[in-house]
Amino acid sequence: MSLLRFEHLSKRYGDVVALDDVSFTVSEGEVFGLLGPNGAGKSTLIRILMDIIRADTGRIEVFGEAHNRSHLDRIGYLPEERGLYAKQKVIDVMVYLGRLKGLGRKEARQRSLAWLERFDLGHTVRWRIERLSKGMTQKVQIASVLLLEPELCVLDEPFSGLDPVNVRLVETLIEERRGRGQTTILSTHLMNQVETLCDRVAMVHQGKRVVYGGVDEVRRAHSLPEVGVDTPDALPTLAGVREIAREGEGRWRLHLFPETDPQSVLAELVRAGIRIERFERLLAPMADVFIRVVEGGERVQEAA
Ligand code: ADP
Repeated sequence: MSLLRFEHLSKRYGDVVALDDVSFTVSEGEVFGLLGPNGAGKSTLIRILMDIIRADTGRIEVFGEAHNRSHLDRIGYLPEERGLYAKQKVIDVMVYLGRLKGLGRKEARQRSLAWLERFDLGHTVRWRIERLSKGMTQKVQIASVLLLEPELCVLDEPFSGLDPVNVRLVETLIEERRGRGQTTILSTHLMNQVETLCDRVAMVHQGKRVVYGGVDEVRRAHSLPEVGVDTPDALPTLAGVREIAREGEGRWRLHLFPETDPQSVLAELVRAGIRIERFERLLAPMADVFIRVVEGGERVQEAA
């Protein structure tokens, strides 16, 4: 079921077209990647969703209704430009933010303490914000959003400034949200995180939606016709294979002709009595997809 629906959104800032007829949906319970190079229009889209700015045309449907301000209590938002009140205590800031989104004081306090523990920040409860390192501040901000347990959460570059341990922690927390059926929109330039976390993605480029679909579908659509094969046997000449490259002991990369069905290559290997320990279609990394689309100005066939 779609939880969020962007329909034909357009937005200009003077002569700059920030969004040009962008439509896509986000399904309930998924992790959705909102991707695109700097200046593509991602923040504009998010700001329209958060009712910070208005679209020129188009509409948004969320939670099955036309979007209105009352929905904002159910949407958590970690903005890219972050600011907390430097002189305030960590716990006071978190309770304040929780109360803004409708939590009672006691509930906000309990949840804040629990989430600070989860982020290994229990010792900072009474610290002033200015005493926190950059990474710690970042964690307090993420905790302040997640403690609301919003049905829909928009995280803009949540991994920036975090060490690998904390990147892993935030990944886990996002996966836990999915496990609870909660929906997360993740805007990030870290394509490894997109591959491991996201179910589907939309990429915008110069204000237009240029890629849209499941992560595997998108990677498949942008992949070269290549398969990886592991076998202890020597490979015979194979019809439909343009080139065979050795990748290591018993590991091969087969570059197929565009019209070759990988299935037929597998059948041929089996017929030749080759012992196969691995046979897989090699998918382009998301980073390659991103670069090809952005640099090539490629308007690709989209996976629906
Ligand atoms: P992203 O978040 O993908 O980096 P933005 O949505 O911030 O992209 O920007 C999209 C385009 O709109 C860019 O060309 C940017 O310069 C322009 N833009 C964004 N905000 C404003 C603004 N307040 N005034 C004028 N131009 C803006």
